[in-house]
Amino acid sequence: MKVCKFGGSSVADASQIKKVKAILDKDQDRSIVVVSAPGKRFSGDEKVTDMLLLCAEIVNKGNSSKDKFGDVKNRFRDIAEGLGLGRDALEEELDVVLKNIESGAGKDYAASRGEHLNAILISKYFGWNYIETEKCIVIGENNKIEEESYSNLAALINKNEKYVIPGFYGRSPSGEVRCFSRGGSDITGAIAARAVMADVYENWTDVSGVYSSDPRFVKSAHVIPSISYKMVRELSEVGASVFHEEAIAPVVEVNIPINIRNTNSPEDDGTIIGKEPEKKGVIGVSAKGGLSKIYVRKLMFFKESGVRHKVLSLMHLYGIKPCYTLYGCDSISWYFETKQIENIDTEEMCSRLKEEFNLDDIELKKGFAVVGLVGNGIEETMEYVDALDELRRNGIQPSSVSLGGSYTTFVIGVPEERKLDAVNCISERLFISK
Ligand code: ASP
Repeated sequence: MKVCKFGGSSVADASQIKKVKAILDKDQDRSIVVVSAPGKRFSGDEKVTDMLLLCAEIVNKGNSSKDKFGDVKNRFRDIAEGLGLGRDALEEELDVVLKNIESGAGKDYAASRGEHLNAILISKYFGWNYIETEKCIVIGENNKIEEESYSNLAALINKNEKYVIPGFYGRSPSGEVRCFSRGGSDITGAIAARAVMADVYENWTDVSGVYSSDPRFVKSAHVIPSISYKMVRELSEVGASVFHEEAIAPVVEVNIPINIRNTNSPEDDGTIIGKEPEKKGVIGVSAKGGLSKIYVRKLMFFKESGVRHKVLSLMHLYGIKPCYTLYGCDSISWYFETKQIENIDTEEMCSRLKEEFNLDDIELKKGFAVVGLVGNGIEETMEYVDALDELRRNGIQPSSVSLGGSYTTFVIGVPEERKLDAVNCISERLFISK
């Protein structure tokens, strides 16, 4: 049995949904489908989820969302018509949703209705069963998937039947509609795959898999045929975004492979996320910008126990949550997202840190990016030497280098404005000129 999740662009209009049907018709094992709300049909288009969130906001300010909801209605009417179901196939459901939003059902309720309505419509078009996730998926605080979700969902599924399931939402433990974070239909797909112990979780999107680098900016980018769960996590940590990272846990725990596929190019094999690839070496190069670095130094810094923790705790009070740490003999540098210090007086913070810990030196600098080289056994292949050589040849000076704690990612700090140059030249050296 295969569980297939189709993202927003794959179900954005009737012609896309027809492609989904053709994909399902090709393989009878594809019997459970999780769908997103209609996404963007073209660049600059509005996602239905965003339209619905706006409706909730309008109502929250004491106004009527009827006009804005008219746009939502028209999106669904166009889809229904394009699928040959008739323009008013969803009219009753749309009226219920509008009524509830107008009476203040709230943000999560509104946001979830894109998936809800789309799944109903698609189930009508396929002639498949519809499963209401409010009945079975329980979402705790901070996106936590409550254990009962798997058995609740499994109990609603008969292995000889076919189902359409709305992604992105379930209910809170106390029973109100609750959404996952944005892009959360990936998580619903993973829950469904685990609930039925699927052979594979197919995640259909608008790219042909996980790329070695961002194909929009890197000429030498190519699809990675197979990658481990761990590496996908590490790649997303250094800026790559293909798959909702919280959707990995439900399937990794039971070893269900994820196959990333392209709805617009279904003949491509895509990427299999699962086991560790046998071949050693770097398979992905990605970069994340928008970082700042804080450097603190004090003679005999680490002699005093718990001092690092105390400095971090004070920085936390100012909203700083570091993403990379580098240790020196008497110093530490932390990278963190610059947006965390947008609204704080950094001079005041640095003086306070300096005073409270009697530091010899403290320095805060903006304008960094980190480039991550992700792969298996990279401590052995030492391709990071080639990467550093390439940076030197291109006049890009690293601000830090680290093999990290996992031996899966080699992280290089670079100036933000050279981020893309760095990824491009490293990718070219490691993947093309080898
Ligand atoms: N529709 C939701 C969003 O736009 C969830 C999803 O597509 O996965 O974030």
